[in-house]
Amino acid sequence: MSSELSARALHLLQTVFGYPAFRGQQADIVEHVGSGGDALVLMPTGGGKSLCYQIPALLRDGVGVVVSPLIALMQDQVDALAEVGVRAAFLNSTQTFEESMRIERLVRTGEIDLVYVAPERLLTPRCLELFEASRIALFAIDEAHCVSQWGHDFRPEYIRLSILHERFPDVPRIALTATADQQTRAEIAMRLQLEDARQFVSSFDRPNIRYLVVEKTNGRKQLIDFITSEHAGDCGIVYCLSRKKVEETAEFLCEHGIRALPYHAGMEHPVRAANQARFLREENIVMVATIAFGMGIDKPDVRFVAHLDLPKSIEGYYQETGRAGRDGLPATAWMAYGLQDVVLQRRMIDESEADENFKRVLSTKLDAMLGLCETLHCRRTRLLSYFGETSGPCGNCDTCLLPPVSFDGTVPVQKLLSTIYRVDQRFAAGHVIDVLRGVEGERIKQWHHDSLSVFGIGADRSEQEWRAILRQAIALGLVTVDHEQFSSLKLTEAARPVLKGGQKVQLRQYQKPVKQKKPSSTR
Ligand code: ADP
Ligand code: ZN
Repeated sequence: MSSELSARALHLLQTVFGYPAFRGQQADIVEHVGSGGDALVLMPTGGGKSLCYQIPALLRDGVGVVVSPLIALMQDQVDALAEVGVRAAFLNSTQTFEESMRIERLVRTGEIDLVYVAPERLLTPRCLELFEASRIALFAIDEAHCVSQWGHDFRPEYIRLSILHERFPDVPRIALTATADQQTRAEIAMRLQLEDARQFVSSFDRPNIRYLVVEKTNGRKQLIDFITSEHAGDCGIVYCLSRKKVEETAEFLCEHGIRALPYHAGMEHPVRAANQARFLREENIVMVATIAFGMGIDKPDVRFVAHLDLPKSIEGYYQETGRAGRDGLPATAWMAYGLQDVVLQRRMIDESEADENFKRVLSTKLDAMLGLCETLHCRRTRLLSYFGETSGPCGNCDTCLLPPVSFDGTVPVQKLLSTIYRVDQRFAAGHVIDVLRGVEGERIKQWHHDSLSVFGIGADRSEQEWRAILRQAIALGLVTVDHEQFSSLKLTEAARPVLKGGQKVQLRQYQKPVKQKKPSSTR
């Protein structure tokens, strides 16, 4: 029986969607859900999640209901399905009452294959009653990580989706997400009552993406160098943290002959939509954007994704960089990162309205991100291990291509820690580094810091080197930045054994960036 089902599934794939074969775990998932099983699917962006519910919905009697938080994309999805002859529609707040009446009628009479609904809409009594009165093939819960309270896309309505299991016990459910560490995965299963569902976890590796992280000295200038030397004329995305920086960076790129457009949520809707349309349509646009840009964007030939600011978490980094190279051809994920990023991200957490518990979660996620930036080992290995996968050195990231030199940094770190201690943990990075390097200055004199025993003990290193050491000390959790007190540096408990000499610290030696040679085959 199941082989008959697989044959029908393959037939639909080929005749309706026009693809010769299933990819990865698609065939297994389609068969499992098609024959009535529940599933939790973890598959990277671009992996082909949509077919995992679209084909089972066609295989089974009744209407497939797709719960998605991305109202803005529903029209596109419905249009794409209409193009291949699948009868799809959506129910959301953007349509008129008459229009939704019409769709509801189609659902009730089964004259439709798939209906997309926003979670808040689905949870209305009217909608639940409609589905109870109709024949439902399956429920697909897209972007299922939105159920996680600790995630950055938390949607309270998602938690209430457990109602589907209670009210429709016989309808198979498939939850899908591209981003979930072990903990989030467990939370999805628990909250959506999918503990007994079969889990399909695909590899998160994107072998065609080359990961590069450079030490930030002059971010924009480094970005220009990166684009012109490695991706001239290519299509790419540049992520910045703030709207202001998005606009400034786009302008700066344009001044340097790069066809850049800005995109952020504060722009007028028509302008934003026009920029997005140009990015999708034209060949060599560089979109400079906040993370508001990209969810659901399916442009296969994005050749690079650049981060001018540190992402908040590895999930975010993975999702954003994952928009590069969906066509499978070589692409680059480039990031410039510096001490200021660490300080800023920590401050954003400290100053956020979140409760202590949540701040701790954010802080742990940031630490994992910093660990990825400062690692001495393969970045891909580190990235994949975050998602629970083990792998060897990849040969396609900066640490593999140009292995970082590490050194015993115990002594310089001790110098740094004792200087922070000697200035009573009341001064920020700039001042501490000046004391270390023995720089005479007004403020140093005013506080008599030139008479401290630590004054000038770090004169053998440049300011840049000290910044790198401090950044790593922060990443290692030896030092924190206190934002309530003028960003002053403070020692943590973990600093004690290092200061006392019982614990050694291995640091990364930052090298002058070496230009990578462009492969001769590209245009
Ligand atoms: P996701 O939702 O996981 O990000 P999509 O479902 O949007 O991914 O699919 C990504 C792209 O891969 C789409 O362009 C889709 O048409 C294509 N695709 C999916 N499955 C297959 C397949 N079996 N063969 C060829 N292309 C596929
Ligand atoms: Zn590597």
